[in-house]
Order: sequence, then structure tokens, then C-alpha cells
Amino acid sequence: MSIGGASVAAKESFGVINPASGEVFEQAPECSPDQLDAAFASAKQAYLTWRSNESDRRKALLAMADVLMGSAGEIAPIITAEQGKPYSQANLEVFGAAMWCQYFANLEITPEVIQDDESALVQVVQRPLGVIAAITPWNFPLLLAFWKIAPALLAGNTVVIKPSPFTPLSTLKVAELLQSVLPAGVLNAVSGGDQLGAQMTSHPVPRKISFTGSVETGKKVALAAAPDLKRVTLELGGNDPAIVLDDADPVMVAKAIFTGAFSNNGQICSAIKRVYVPEALYDDVVDGLAACASAVKVGEGTDPQSQLGPINNKPQFERVKELVADALRHGATAVTGGQAMERPGYFFAPTILAGLTDGTRIVDEEQFGPALPVVKYHSLEDAIERANATNFGLSGSVWGSDVERASQVAAQLECGTAWVNTHLGLAPSQPFGGCKWSGLGVENGKWGLSEFTEVQSLYQSRTLDGTNPLMALLVE
Ligand code: NAD
Repeated sequence: MSIGGASVAAKESFGVINPASGEVFEQAPECSPDQLDAAFASAKQAYLTWRSNESDRRKALLAMADVLMGSAGEIAPIITAEQGKPYSQANLEVFGAAMWCQYFANLEITPEVIQDDESALVQVVQRPLGVIAAITPWNFPLLLAFWKIAPALLAGNTVVIKPSPFTPLSTLKVAELLQSVLPAGVLNAVSGGDQLGAQMTSHPVPRKISFTGSVETGKKVALAAAPDLKRVTLELGGNDPAIVLDDADPVMVAKAIFTGAFSNNGQICSAIKRVYVPEALYDDVVDGLAACASAVKVGEGTDPQSQLGPINNKPQFERVKELVADALRHGATAVTGGQAMERPGYFFAPTILAGLTDGTRIVDEEQFGPALPVVKYHSLEDAIERANATNFGLSGSVWGSDVERASQVAAQLECGTAWVNTHLGLAPSQPFGGCKWSGLGVENGKWGLSEFTEVQSLYQSRTLDGTNPLMALLVE
């Protein structure tokens, strides 16, 4: 772990499993309560100087990007080993993390002048919050860490980060490497089980919790933050619908929807999780999706031929198995796939499910894996209503040849990001967050940066006697 600028060992450790084999391949440190206290204390101390020099912070972020890019060859294999994704995608994840550092290094935080006259200069400034507790999931262990670390540090905060116990090693490694370009205590990384996350959210030092994970845990985080009125950003789960319109080209759309649903083996919060298709196009879209699912190469992340790896962990593997089995029991057909692959590790055959509708668990719940239900609709109004009839609201997409019409439908989706003729279009400049149970607040862009700050009205009187127009009125 990295605490106060030093590499720190722990008395206890826990096993990290390679999902391609199902075997423990490495041990990770189990942070003790004292070590967590030390991490927060060092972040609190470092904050006192880190907050004061913006230009140093920008330089440090650029240096962090250089370290990440220069160490990709060391970091990417760790991501593949603990997360399962193919090496080329792990490598892209490292470069994505660097890109986020570069973007925030150059994002301006300019005070807004709201009054400038003979009585006062009033500016709205964004101040840092203090120490941030960052908690991340296992699907993009590094990229999602930098969605937090980069804006938090630019704004002048310091950070204690805890990765998922399924994928702790890449974050710990990167934090260790970054100590060479950061003052001690600015970025601390600890690891442990879920209980460590709970200890962080109830710890007195952090002023904000930036959390990415499941809805269930997100609600626990909100509860834990309440007594101390800690700020929270919650990036939670999704059950993203894709609506195919009747003027879509079914073959072209099927290919793109497959990518939107199965990238990272379906383990993306905003991946397509259910597809609504008009009756006339249904068979063609299902066949197109099934052709993609049958052709995609599933294998170990270390095999350069692999396009999809295993599911990351046993509980998630069991969940996907359970949801697919439930759909099949309720009359769905697995046009392709439908079961786990017969090999060690957590491999599941890419699955296209047809002949099912809303009310089936895999349509209503977040599967977060390589299985996609395709649902028929009769009227567009009905499809929109069904797409919105959920507590989730992360993102969604609409597909059709008439882009204006598709955009009008997309605007009716109750979600944080609505795509037209694409899915998963993301950038560091673009705010990302969920409606309803999919989250609270956003990450990325100037909006994400603002969430790591607090607004202060800085009122500078232009008269030395301290009078202002409101005071003058009250005195009269
Ligand atoms: P999870 O909620 O089980 O765990 C996320 C993190 O929270 C882990 O680090 C875990 O150790 C920690 N944690 C667990 N219990 C805690 C507690 N009581 N207090 C504080 N921290 C605690 O989620 P997961 O299984 O790792 O990730 C999958 C979920 O994350 C999916 O629902 C997915 O949609 C969601 N996700 C959302 C986004 C987004 O940006 N909206 C991105 C990726 C993943």
C-alpha cells in the first residue's frame, strides 16, 4: 500500500484470483484500522500545502500521465491477471487513465465574476473540499480510479483510494509508481475487503466519498455519509435499454449493439443490457446479434487472439448463470450460448436470449455479463415506456436511419446519457452520471470537477466603511 509517500506492508493479506483460472495468483495487503488512520492523517497533512499551488498540481498531473504511459507494459499485465480482460484492452485502460490526467491538467477553474461595480467585486470561487475517500469497482479498476483521482487532485484535494478486493493490485502498483511525482500523502492507496470501504465512509477525516459500484452498496455509502454530512458522488449500476426503430438497418445495427453490449464482456455499468426491437425487424436483429456472439473469440486475456475474457469473479459468474437459467426456465431461447464454458475459470459463452419480455429477471435486473435479452415491441410509445419503467437510469440508446426522429426518442429516455446510433461514447470532457437509482452527481468534464469543490462567494467591498446596499437598506 502507499501511505504518506511510503510503501507499506500489512500484517494480514488476502488472495487475489485470476479469473481465467479461478486460482489465487497473488496476495494483497489487508489494511488495518491503524493503517487506515495513518493514510487519512497523511492525506490531511498533505492537503495543507497541496491545495495552495494550482500550477504545481497541473504539472504533477502531467507527470502522472507520463508515469502511467511509461509503465503501461508493467501495469497492463496486472490488470489482465486480476481482471481478466485481454491484454490490449488492459493496455488501453492504462492509456485512458493517462488521458484523464492530461485532460484535467489542462482544465481551467476560473472564478466567475457576478458583480463588479462601485460597491463590490463579487466572485464565485471553487474551493477544494479536503480529503477524498475514493472507492472503486472491479470492471475498470484503473480507469475508474482516475475518473476520481485526476479531478480530485487538480481541484486541490488529497486522496485515499481503495480498489475492489477482486482487483486491488493494479491500483496499488500505480499508486506506488506515482509516489515519485507526488508529494508524500497526496495520493494514498489501501486495500482490503468490503469492511474497509465501510470504515472509510464512516471515518471522520474525509470530507467527500467518491464511490463507484452497485446500487446496494451506494445506498449504504449514502447512509454512512449522512451523520457527518460528507459530500457524496455515487456512480452506480445500470440496466441500459437500446431501442431499435423501424427504419433501422437490422444487420448494421446488430453489429453495433453487440459491441455496446459485450465490450469488456458486458461488465460495463453503461453497457446495453436489454434491446427493444419492432416485430418486423426482430428476427433479423436477433440473427445478427447471434452471428456476432458466435464469432467472437473468448479466451484468456494473455492470448492475443482473445476478444473477450472471463467474467471477473465467482459471485458475478454465478449471478449471470442464474439469470440466464431463470430466463430459459421462463420460456426464453438461447439463440447462441446459454451456459458456462467447459473450462477452468469463469468463462461464460456469449449469449443472445430471444422470446422473452419485461418481467423476466434478466430484462428487469442488471446482469453485468455476457448475456443479452432481445425483446419485441409493437408500438414505439410502449417501447419508450418499458425502457423507462425501471429504477435504473444510467444511459440508453436509440437506433434508426432518421437521426432527428431517433434523437427525439432518445430525449425521452430517463437517463444520464442518451446516445443516438451509438453506445458507450464517453470522453473526459463529457459528464457521466445516472438518474434515479443509478447515482447521484456526475463524473468528468467541468461538472465532474465541480463535484470535488465547494462554492464560495468571495465578496470584496469597494468601500472601506463596510457598507453594502442591503445593509444600507436595513439601517434606514
Ligand atoms: P460493489 O458495490 O460490490 O463494490 C464496489 C466497491 O465498494 C468495492 O471496492 C467494495 O469493496 C466497496 N464496498 C463494498 N461494501 C461497501 C460498504 N459497505 N461501504 C463502502 N464500500 C463498500 O460493486 P462491484 O461488484 O465491485 O461493481 C459492480 C457494480 O458497479 C455494478 O452494479 C456496476 O454497474 C457498477 N458500476 C457503476 C459504474 C458507474 O460509473 N456508474 C461504473 C462501473 C461499475
